[in-house]
Amino acid sequence: PTMISKTLRTIIMGPPGSGKGTISSRIVKDFRLKHLSSGDLLRSQIHNKSKEGLQAKKYIDSGQLVPDNVMVQLILNELQKLKHDSWLLDGFPRTVPQAEALHTKEPADVVINLNVPFEIIMSRLTSRWTHAPSGRIYNTDFNPPKVQGIDDVTGEELIQREDDKPETVKKRLETYQAHTEPVLNYYRNLGILEEFTGKYSNEIWPKVHKFLSTKTEPLQYTVYKFC
Ligand code: ATP
Ligand code: MG
Repeated sequence: PTMISKTLRTIIMGPPGSGKGTISSRIVKDFRLKHLSSGDLLRSQIHNKSKEGLQAKKYIDSGQLVPDNVMVQLILNELQKLKHDSWLLDGFPRTVPQAEALHTKEPADVVINLNVPFEIIMSRLTSRWTHAPSGRIYNTDFNPPKVQGIDDVTGEELIQREDDKPETVKKRLETYQAHTEPVLNYYRNLGILEEFTGKYSNEIWPKVHKFLSTKTEPLQYTVYKFC
């Protein structure tokens, strides 16, 4: 007999630098969920010069959120194509009006929130240093230069890009706090929020895997050891 399994609709949330990209790619590797990333979708719309892409570009370039009506239209349109699939939504909703619009049309079953300590986020987001003339990139956490602040090859100074500077990073986190944290409360009140706390993706991932395994069948059974 044919197995009929119910679809599972999930959302992944977490501040910039929380490892959302890493966890999302592990989820879609281990579970039968279609990955829909609002950032990727916007970039492809811009590349194809669609009407929505052209509307969105000026906001993205200036580091602002794309207006809710444009964003909602775009995502709901994509979700129409995934009516019979399980999905993982990433980067949307980022505001309460977006969450409400989604809930009316295509409600999610579960929302995964990555809860990473603020200091970890800050250090991760500000740890990238660049040698401007060559474009060489270092990371003070896992790929540091031999001498702090100095390019290994030329001995010249390293700089921080505008969007990696603590001030800019703070700005991104503030936007997240102002617009996206209220979305967590929205889902908490609906009773579908699942929080995962930890400093590192390798610490958070086994918990997410275990949780999702109770909701949908993994493509392959893997037993992760908790550390
Ligand atoms: P971060 O990691 O800081 O969350 P990012 O650069 O990875 O940001 P993406 O998800 O790749 O962000 O999206 C890039 C840009 O597209 C955002 O900065 C924003 O301007 C726009 N964008 C993406 N998703 C949304 C959304 N749901 N609502 C409004 N704007 C969005
Ligand atoms: Mg990102």
